[in-house]
Amino acid sequence: MVLDQETKTQLKQYLELLEGEVVLKVSAGEDDLSRKMLELVKELTEMSPKIKVDRTQLDRVPSFSVNRPGEETGVVFAGLPLGHEFSSFILALLQVSGRPPKVNQSIVERIKNIKGEYRFETFVSLSCHNCPDVVQALNLMSILNPNISHTMIDGAAFKEEVERKNIMAVPTVFLNGEPFGSGRMSLEDILAKIGGEVDPAELSNKDPFDVLVIGGGPAGASAAIYAARKGIRTGIVVERFGGQILDTLTIENFIGVKQTEGPKLAARLEEHVKDYDIDIIQPYRAKRLEKKELIEIELENGAVLKSKTVIISTGARWRELGVPGEAELKNKGVAYCPHCDGPLFENKDVAVIGGGNSGVEAAIDLAGIARHVTLLEFLPELKADAILQERLYSLDNVTVLKNVETKSINGTERVQGLTYVERDSGEEKELKLDGVFIQIGLVPNTEWLEGTVERNRFGEIIVDKYGATNIPGVFAAGDCTDAAYKQIIISMGSGATAALGAFDYLIRN
Ligand SMILES: Cc1cc2nc3c(=O)[nH]c(=O)nc-3n(C[C@H](O)[C@H](O)[C@H](O)COP(=O)(O)OP(=O)(O)OC[C@H]3O[C@@H](n4cnc5c(N)ncnc54)[C@H](O)[C@@H]3O)c2cc1C
Repeated sequence: MVLDQETKTQLKQYLELLEGEVVLKVSAGEDDLSRKMLELVKELTEMSPKIKVDRTQLDRVPSFSVNRPGEETGVVFAGLPLGHEFSSFILALLQVSGRPPKVNQSIVERIKNIKGEYRFETFVSLSCHNCPDVVQALNLMSILNPNISHTMIDGAAFKEEVERKNIMAVPTVFLNGEPFGSGRMSLEDILAKIGGEVDPAELSNKDPFDVLVIGGGPAGASAAIYAARKGIRTGIVVERFGGQILDTLTIENFIGVKQTEGPKLAARLEEHVKDYDIDIIQPYRAKRLEKKELIEIELENGAVLKSKTVIISTGARWRELGVPGEAELKNKGVAYCPHCDGPLFENKDVAVIGGGNSGVEAAIDLAGIARHVTLLEFLPELKADAILQERLYSLDNVTVLKNVETKSINGTERVQGLTYVERDSGEEKELKLDGVFIQIGLVPNTEWLEGTVERNRFGEIIVDKYGATNIPGVFAAGDCTDAAYKQIIISMGSGATAALGAFDYLIRN
């Protein structure tokens, strides 16, 4: 039995939502994984009379395509779509059966209007929580447009191909055999990348907003909802909903919700924002703010939006180490997200740089996958909580190097090692490695405000108790500000404060 009883019970409810028949065409061999795949599809046929199975020959064994009777959709799963990809599989079944996707009609039209041949392939790991977004976006494009096809490939099931193609991060997407992109991407990002973008002039022609929120993490989502509930004209510039919580596996301190996962909460944020009359401008990044009579926000595509007030909630991102080799070997062994990319380093040697909570958590996590983990900390002592350190030191495939400075990450095509200096002796040493995970904290996304909004020496925007900055009408919230603590609930609270502050400002002016 591939699916356990609990999963089967849940799945049965989803399968009742199938609209029409779905044909799974399986390409299987004699190997164990093929047997499991055949078992999985058999279990599905036993659960719904609308699912039919056929045999076929596809590029990869084992794999299967999801089709309508007599009509290929181009959606293929290579390897078993379990773990985080199980939801992608269910969604593909429902959408292929005829259930309408939960995206707005303008996006459906944009996808249907794409011309040319697009053969996408996405390499994933089943523990990658960012991969389903990409897989589901490309599956949907494939279902809606006959010129587009998409194959999800579980890297663990096709190790030889992963090695040959030098894939060291997931998701990694290929288009027509050429590298297309790596890391988290939304449907809008993909559409923009293949030319399905909105004309910047169309965006610039929008009427001025009362409140324009920049950033779609917890702070931005909260600010937009609070503003919209005041009945004022609200817009939000979103690169993608969720922000850092997309990189967070388990959340246990979002009060009122005992336990959830980051991507689940991100989806809830998006759903909640979409419940209101909020103009969502996606996927765009702001690159300039200027206070004139109104406040102008220029986007990276050149469009200029105008608003009476602006709430900046652009959050923070992983801090980079800034040593030679880091930029050159990014996604070629240099990684920042252990949950996503960890499985690609099974039985390999990796290093984690940073001995704070996130570094030590990453090392513990990776020790269960990699052959050996070396943790490097610049200071003489680790800064992580005692309980994490205790767990770390109990692992026999982890080495901890303290008081060391990483000088370079070495390798040509992929990471081959790292050079560090022992700070007390000055002695330079080398480590042979396959991967380096950098976990040295976060940096606020505020460089684009250079010369405008006042920031402290860390680059954090200085705000008062209303979330107001030094520029009248410009407010800020969340991790991009000088708030003492950076947490989801705190960001949401400060988003609400900034929205109420902006509303108050509008009434008075
Ligand atoms: C690995 C990890 C685990 C964590 N675990 C927890 C936890 O368990 N509990 C907890 O409470 N907190 C946790 N946090 C912290 C929490 O995620 C943050 O405090 C919170 O996400 C901050 O929300 P924010 O909206 O201020 O910023 P972000 O979440 O950083 O969102 C900012 C958004 O703005 C966008 N953006 C950036 N620049 C621009 C631009 N120029 N134009 C337009 N958009 C832009 C970004 O793409 C992003 O979507 C964790 C953080 C990390 C990294």
